[in-house]
Amino acid sequence: MPFEIKSSGWWNEEIFSPARFLCRSLLDFVYPPVCWGCHLSLSSDEFVLCHRCVKALPYLQQPALPASRLSWLQLEKIFFDSSLAVYQYSDIVQDLVHQFKYNGMTSLASLFGKAIASRLSQNGDEIEALVPVPLHKSRLRERGYNQSLLLAQQIAQVLGAPVNKGQLVRVKNTISQATLSRQERMSNVTNAFQLKQPEVFGGKSIGLVDDVFTTGSTMNECSRLLKDAGASSVMCISIVRV
Ligand SMILES: [Zn+2]
Repeated sequence: MPFEIKSSGWWNEEIFSPARFLCRSLLDFVYPPVCWGCHLSLSSDEFVLCHRCVKALPYLQQPALPASRLSWLQLEKIFFDSSLAVYQYSDIVQDLVHQFKYNGMTSLASLFGKAIASRLSQNGDEIEALVPVPLHKSRLRERGYNQSLLLAQQIAQVLGAPVNKGQLVRVKNTISQATLSRQERMSNVTNAFQLKQPEVFGGKSIGLVDDVFTTGSTMNECSRLLKDAGASSVMCISIVRV
């Protein structure tokens, strides 16, 4: 059953503005925000989900997997070294990611970023730079933000690794991967990205950040460029892994 969102709509903030903030504060006062999971009131230190519902999210049993364990991706050649994600696909996770990605609910970057950073710390892998998967400039203009960059910035705050913003660029405005077959996804992203200064990645262990990891085609194409540039390792970091 799809996860049902019962709320007054206070989350749907496209762009932050003082008027919007005041409006939201007033709405929060009149209609106190409720948890998306259990519909009980949220306390001041909770956002979107209460602590109990955060704990009950479907966490992956094995957040980190080496590329050799991802043979089901059926990629011709895998260029990254490993994948790290936090959640399995489920209705609630899918809804949260959708709100984060398309509905301006950018504050979710904090919840997701902290969950990812905690898995990364447990895993103990060294990451020297976080590289967000970029949007094409026309899509960025439309959406107003790149969710992968917001995620990378949150992870960086915990890990202390720098975010490499703007070096990896999307030069082809690809159509959404969601409706494409595996084969179409691969050709859709081929040569869709470029590195501005490949030399800055030489010898570095990179954490490549995207919101979801499905067929791995996008992350693999970005990893190909990073490896060609001499990156020593690439870990694909995402909120969800299918
Ligand atoms: Zn709850």
